[in-house]
Amino acid sequence: MTEKYDVVVIGGGPGGYVAAIRAAQLGLSTACIDMNTGKDGKAALGGTCLNVGCIPSKALLDSSKHYHHLQHDYAAHGINVEGASIDINTMIARKDSVVKKLTGGVSQLFKANKVKQLHGRGRLLANRQVEFTPHAGKETVLLQADNVILAAGSVPIAIPNVEYDNKYIIDNVGALDLTEAPERLGVIGAGVIGLELGSVWQRLGSEVILLEALPDFLATADADIAKQAGRLFKQQGLDIRLGSMVKSARVVDTEVQVTVQDKNGESELSFDRLLVAVGRKPYTDGLLTDDCGVKLNERGQIDVNDKSQTSADGVWAVGDCVRGPMLAHKASEEGIAVAELIAGKAAHIHFDTVPWVIYTDPEIAWVGKTEQQLKEEGVAYKVGSFPFAATGRGLAMGDAAGMVKMLADEETDEILGVHIIGPGASELIAECVVTMEFRGASEDLACIVHAHPTLSEAVHEAALHVDRRAIHRGN
Ligand code: FAD
Ligand code: AMP
Repeated sequence: MTEKYDVVVIGGGPGGYVAAIRAAQLGLSTACIDMNTGKDGKAALGGTCLNVGCIPSKALLDSSKHYHHLQHDYAAHGINVEGASIDINTMIARKDSVVKKLTGGVSQLFKANKVKQLHGRGRLLANRQVEFTPHAGKETVLLQADNVILAAGSVPIAIPNVEYDNKYIIDNVGALDLTEAPERLGVIGAGVIGLELGSVWQRLGSEVILLEALPDFLATADADIAKQAGRLFKQQGLDIRLGSMVKSARVVDTEVQVTVQDKNGESELSFDRLLVAVGRKPYTDGLLTDDCGVKLNERGQIDVNDKSQTSADGVWAVGDCVRGPMLAHKASEEGIAVAELIAGKAAHIHFDTVPWVIYTDPEIAWVGKTEQQLKEEGVAYKVGSFPFAATGRGLAMGDAAGMVKMLADEETDEILGVHIIGPGASELIAECVVTMEFRGASEDLACIVHAHPTLSEAVHEAALHVDRRAIHRGN
């Protein structure tokens, strides 16, 4: 028998589960198929983000940050702790319990909103039929939907001659579950994931070397921010080697031998573990049949227009499996927009104001254009900046490295980009996103009262500095 739904979602990550909840809220009968299984052998919604991405990485970043502060920063506050140690198993168990709370929470939300949760694989057939293969080896079920939302997410990229064995050569999943800090951890790729997971293990005692093929550090960030980040990470002991292309890696006994090419030629490095963090690719294996009508583009992404419609009528796609930044909040907003469009409402996403965050210490966050992009595009702009070292709150906290940098249109003063490196950057960027979404000017932010003493005063002062009227710095 064929089960009928208004909407069937394939994939229960932040793109898919959010789309399913919103569709159900809008009165559409909705099922969400997700094949992920948690450590307890049960269905675990939330996709990469909740299970092996955003949330577990932040849990470990926070644990390791506490440990680092305990060892390096608390003495300045007069707090002296003898014999501090870290129990990695407790840290990992805490991370797992955070993950379980959140994935279980999504199942609860499905129940509350009457979304049918289906644990297993989904495959799109022709005419919006979906084949569901349950996880627990039961027979396949045919679903008929008026609309299908594909939200199958992404998986780590593998590079030639570096084969994952999930013990010595690992991806994000392995790096979130190590049982001890490796003495020497190699990381291929100094992008967001490599920096975050490299920081975790470096703070816990590993000697971490990041091998990055590109000559520039954090090339997508604003160059001033990337420069400060490179300097601060080096001070912390992260060894970031730019222009270092990994050619191959192999496990020999209990270590990984890596061949690296840099400007001096080829050389060999040995590590106890090697984390491959060279980016992610859309996951479409087994998702589409030849006659389902959905096309992929040359990058292997599901091809969609600006409304997230695929080439098949009534089939939509969102999140990491389509174009655009691979970010959880981008996936969720697309999911909501698609549900609204299916329900006949208006919806639009402004990709220009999607914030980016890197949860290193200090954090890095930005929205809009970088200074180098504005130069390339020939846009006339003004720059304001403000260091956290000149904020009372940052100094009181003992956490005052970094700055806020604001770029505004030379003529109209509209804010075109804001770039932050420093404490609380991930939260501070929200104010800048809101201002940009309303097409606000630096003058608008400059006129708004910011509480004292807060880190947000750095945003305020950077806005004032755009017109050279900052109070707590030279102009
Ligand atoms: P996913 O979260 O990948 O979910 C897809 C789901 O679909 C999975 O559960 C998968 O099993 C399931 N699925 C796939 N195919 C099928 C099928 N045929 N049938 C049934 N189920 C299927 N982003 C941020 O914004 N902030 C961060 O701090 C952040 N940190 C990250 C840290 C790490 C280590 C990693 C790896 C990623 C991080 N990301 C972060 C990226 C973020 O996780 C992704 O952008 C986000 O999860 C994408 O959501 P999605 O719904 O498109 O896909
Ligand atoms: P991200 O896309 O932010 O996850 O970053 C991945 C990084 O890995 C990019 O900066 C790439 O330049 C880098 N990278 C890809 N392949 C290699 C390689 N073979 N050796 C070293 N770095 C690489």
